[in-house]
Amino acid sequence: MQKVSFFKSIHVKLVLIYVLLIIIALQIIGLYFSKELEENLEANFQDSIFQRIDLVQYSIREEMLKDRDETSPSLEQSLSIIVREFATGDINEIRVIDDRNRVRATSDINNQSIVGQRGNQEIVNQSIAAQTSIDKIAIDAETQNRVWILVAPIFDTVGPQGEILGTIYIESNIENVFDQVNDINEIFAVGTAISLAITIILGILIARTITRPISDMRKQAQAMSRGNFSRKVRVYGNDEIGQLAIAFNHLTNRLQEATSTTEAERRKLASVLTNMTDGVIATDRKGKVILINDPAINFLKITREATLNRPIASVLGLEKEYSFEDLINMKDSVNLDFSTMEDHLILRANFSVIQKETGFVNGLITVLHDITEQEKIEMERREFVANVSHELRTPLTTMRSYLDALADGAWRDENIAPTFLNVTQTETERMIRLVNDLLQLSKMDSRDYKLNREFVEFNKFFNRIIDRFEMSKSQNVEFKRYLPEESYFVEIDTDKLTQVIDNIISNALKYSPDGGNIRFGVTVQENLLKIMVSDDGMGIPKENVGRIFDRFYRVDRARSRAMGGTGLGLAIAKEMIEAHGGRIWAESEEGVGTTIFFTLPFELDEAGEWD
Ligand code: ADP
Repeated sequence: MQKVSFFKSIHVKLVLIYVLLIIIALQIIGLYFSKELEENLEANFQDSIFQRIDLVQYSIREEMLKDRDETSPSLEQSLSIIVREFATGDINEIRVIDDRNRVRATSDINNQSIVGQRGNQEIVNQSIAAQTSIDKIAIDAETQNRVWILVAPIFDTVGPQGEILGTIYIESNIENVFDQVNDINEIFAVGTAISLAITIILGILIARTITRPISDMRKQAQAMSRGNFSRKVRVYGNDEIGQLAIAFNHLTNRLQEATSTTEAERRKLASVLTNMTDGVIATDRKGKVILINDPAINFLKITREATLNRPIASVLGLEKEYSFEDLINMKDSVNLDFSTMEDHLILRANFSVIQKETGFVNGLITVLHDITEQEKIEMERREFVANVSHELRTPLTTMRSYLDALADGAWRDENIAPTFLNVTQTETERMIRLVNDLLQLSKMDSRDYKLNREFVEFNKFFNRIIDRFEMSKSQNVEFKRYLPEESYFVEIDTDKLTQVIDNIISNALKYSPDGGNIRFGVTVQENLLKIMVSDDGMGIPKENVGRIFDRFYRVDRARSRAMGGTGLGLAIAKEMIEAHGGRIWAESEEGVGTTIFFTLPFELDEAGEWD
């Protein structure tokens, strides 16, 4: 949030408004007061002059109307005495002017020369013409002071009905009145300044009471926007601002609750997205990736930065087949092959649109599910069914052709019939073996079979099986045993393990050349017993060694079948060894020989003999 500059702050604005209002109020009061005062003082001044004028008029009229003889002083002298007597205080000068506009007397001693001369002041003529008093304010030429000039006519009777005898010209010093007004105005101005200074200080203090809570709230709002909800606004009172502060604090609490709920939800969602095994990719309404979880990143083998903001179709490698609109309208899932040289990866992508009630598309969520294993199982299943059908069809076809031949009359031929019957018998046995093997595998797959475990000494057990083969063998093959002296006890299902070893030895015999050796070995590797059956047979090509434990896998199909093999022996052996907690593998070199290894957990003592 922006910082409020000092001059733009409410605080300064309030103080300014306050001060301006006070200045305006004081100005209005001051103007009115000073004008009234001036008028009042002026009126008082004039009143005091007027009061004196009445008396002067009277004395002058008496003097002018008086009969004079030689002994009596001249009119000028008498008038001079009168005017000098009255020209006191504020009156600068009094002149008496007769009806012929001649100055008859003046109170100004320095201006006696004008006595007897014609006065030609305009104001005097006006007064005579109007037969009334006229006054005006003028500037004294000498002193530059303001003077009040009053010209009043003198009638021969009291009141204005009589004939004009002359006029009185009075010049009084009104400057004092203005000086007084100025003094009072000055006092007023100083008072105004003092009161302004006081009110500014008070204004600042009062404005603070309003602006401080507002400023507090501003700061808190700023803190809140930064995610800090711990601050609280101080409540200064119960006025509107106090109430606002309380509401603001309440709002802060609610916002904090809401934010923490949202944050918790966000974390939950993030944790769900991270910990789920499926990949999730979300886009905005334009199809640009805005969210991708870790599993999706691992599946697609890219970085988050490289994905964000890229179109979803291009991230999924579908840009050639589908546009974003196609993906939005996609009802079915799409299988994506992300296999590399190293590993196989098939993903199933399901798309769901985030839509508003109005139908406006907000984005697309893509869920990527790893179906590699599922696909593999499905493929194996299909292969298995095909294999089983094939394995069953071959002996059945053979049998049918032989039975057909017998039915066609071969049964009568004593030489051929037993051979043909023998073939059908062999094929039937092979089918029984195959079905038995399949049943056994299916039992192991369904995991509802149990091992009947018992403790046996392994060397003894192994020797017995080798002996059996040695006694019954028809080939010229030599058996060599490399078995240790020590006793190793294993807890095994003897029937099942006999079957495994039988299968391995019979394979070794099957593929051993005349005069070859078969070596049997037992060693201890870490805490496991490692058993080895090695022959000098034809061997297995390197690339196929790992596959001989797969169901129905045979290096040479025709040869294996001719030898009566089902192709399931080693697959069953693998299941069984693993059920016993061991591992089985083969090492082979073409033309040199094959070695089959398997391991079993063992004890050095028979469990029962411990105590
Ligand atoms: P089969 O019934 O065909 O013997 P197995 O599962 O026992 O089926 O063996 C699978 C395949 O492994 C055989 O068909 C054979 O090609 C190969 N194999 C097994 N043991 C040997 C061995 N000792 N020497 C050469 N090839 C072998």
